[in-house]
Amino acid sequence: HPDPAVRVPDAADIAAWWPRPNPASDKYSRGVVGVATGSATYPGAAVLSVTGALAGPTGMVRYAGSAAPEVLHRHPSVVAAKRVAEAGRVQAWVCGSGLGTDEAARTELRSVLATSLPVLLDADALTLLVDGQHAADLRRDAPLVITPHDGEFARLAGERPGADRVGAACRLAAWINAVVLLKGDRTIVATPAGGAWVNPTGTAALATAGSGDVLAGLLGSLLAAGLPAERAAVMAAYVHGLAGRRAERDGPVTSQDVAAALRPVLAGLL
Ligand code: AMP
Ligand code: MG
Repeated sequence: HPDPAVRVPDAADIAAWWPRPNPASDKYSRGVVGVATGSATYPGAAVLSVTGALAGPTGMVRYAGSAAPEVLHRHPSVVAAKRVAEAGRVQAWVCGSGLGTDEAARTELRSVLATSLPVLLDADALTLLVDGQHAADLRRDAPLVITPHDGEFARLAGERPGADRVGAACRLAAWINAVVLLKGDRTIVATPAGGAWVNPTGTAALATAGSGDVLAGLLGSLLAAGLPAERAAVMAAYVHGLAGRRAERDGPVTSQDVAAALRPVLAGLL
């Protein structure tokens, strides 16, 4: 990238930052991530985001939502509850993918934002934010990360990112006091203080339904493991991009393929 203020992470950065278990670790000390995604209409979003979270460094994934049967069928290690309020202790929440925008979804978003934990909002949670009801909740002290694609960005910011994607992401980050991961061909991570990163990995093959849900889960696990929001976003985008590249070696890519590629990618990286 021509702007020297915009940083580009490399594989050595990601490997150096990635948390590993040590002999003193237990499942709780590695972090517990809460995933509030999916709905009766979109159970697949729950499965995909949980699969992304399970590839991360946390010791436990808790799922809260109406897709618990589908999630548990695929992932017996997940601890599931019907609602965020009943989920038990976590260190960060992922909220939004396939959540829907009805009153139940709104309640779950409110529960997540009411915590003093790091929160990642994506997809339907961003749509609910635009309604304005949650603008006050955004003045929270704990870290917030949002992961919009261009359409979601436009609804939040009032206009599409335009040619200066780094500038646009930085302005939104400052405005809502959140780390903004602006998805695209070269995903950008921008901080409220004006820091910016451009992700060098990735492939257009990631432009497939559910791909962003996988990214959200992985990023949430990194937040729950204690990584600063900026770094967690950079790491998740990098590894997700590599997973897309690895998956496309075998042919046309689905988001399940991206999720399945996270483990071998990490095995090669760490
Ligand atoms: P979502 O729209 O939420 O499913 O997220 C799409 C994911 O695919 C994000 O990680 C994007 O960065 C990635 N993506 C979408 N389109 C492209 C593209 N043309 N080139 C590279 N990555 C893309
Ligand atoms: Mg999405």
